[in-house]
Amino acid sequence: MDTGEVQKYLSSLNLPQYRQKQIIKNYFSGRYLSFLEMTDLPKDLRLDLEKNFSLLSVSESKLVTDTDTQKSLLTLKDNLAIESVLMDYGDWLTACLSSQVGCPLNCAFCATGKMGFKRNLTAEEMLDQILYWNHKIFPKYIGRLVFMGMGEPFLNWDNLLATLKIIKENLNIGSRKISISTAGLIPKIYEFTDLNTEINLAISLHAPDQETRQKIMPITLKYQFTDLIKSLNYYTAHTRRQLFLEYALIDDINDSQDHLNKLINLLKSNRLFYLNLIPLNPVKGGLNPSSNLNLFADTLEKNHLNFSLRRSLGQSSNSACGQLIVGN
Ligand code: SAH
Repeated sequence: MDTGEVQKYLSSLNLPQYRQKQIIKNYFSGRYLSFLEMTDLPKDLRLDLEKNFSLLSVSESKLVTDTDTQKSLLTLKDNLAIESVLMDYGDWLTACLSSQVGCPLNCAFCATGKMGFKRNLTAEEMLDQILYWNHKIFPKYIGRLVFMGMGEPFLNWDNLLATLKIIKENLNIGSRKISISTAGLIPKIYEFTDLNTEINLAISLHAPDQETRQKIMPITLKYQFTDLIKSLNYYTAHTRRQLFLEYALIDDINDSQDHLNKLINLLKSNRLFYLNLIPLNPVKGGLNPSSNLNLFADTLEKNHLNFSLRRSLGQSSNSACGQLIVGN
């Protein structure tokens, strides 16, 4: 909900300050889907608030459950829809949040790009994905957040920052438990670095050179590979934090010995680069997973480089990375 508006309304009703605080606290507790459930409020007030506002700006239209993931189709007030994913890693639960309806970047391997770009999500819509999941899993709670759902978070910069601020002020999720993934908007990588937060940054790299990357990620035409790497070196030099590079191995695209050599050189060039090697998740009309995954992993291991073979959750329900799409 828009807490500012609700507060204004409550003030207009001349309700005492403690009521406002109570309602805001209830909202952020993630225990409620509607005002009607807030039994600690007088009944008339509950009905009145429910009539005038909706507690969450997202509402569940469909839920698909897999062994360790749940994927929800969430409808927004303008009837557009997004997907949001909950991943169960055993020791903690991670919510994978969408930042846009669709995505304008059109990466060859990603389903979201195929639905085109509809609009940015508001801060409220990003936040309410977390509160929605908190409600669903109560009394468990979301331990980590990744902005790796639909959309490019760095193209929705202002709302992203507003969301992060609200999270920091109202939810018990520390910055180190939050990760943002970008396809590589270079100016924003610099801006993000200069914010000096402890939020983790991941880069969807997927290729070790300009030529390969521009084939699968059109954004590379605008933001060149060498400039991208320069910005990543700036990030690690200034933050001294590990930087996560995502690399989904795609048959006949980025999986040759030459690619592997270049990747090794890149990782050797900066010890704070940490590679997440990812088996490509199949998407309709997309590219094929490479069979060189073990070769890549073994060679990186032998070279003592920082990497892990990322466990892919949610493939059978199409909830995995790059599989989020609405309307097709
Ligand atoms: N636009 C941002 C946020 C989306 S995150 C970004 O590009 O980083 C979605 C993650 O899933 C990205 O790391 C993306 O590269 C990855 N991804 C997309 N399609 C995939 C696929 N088919 N298999 C595995 N990972 C994929």
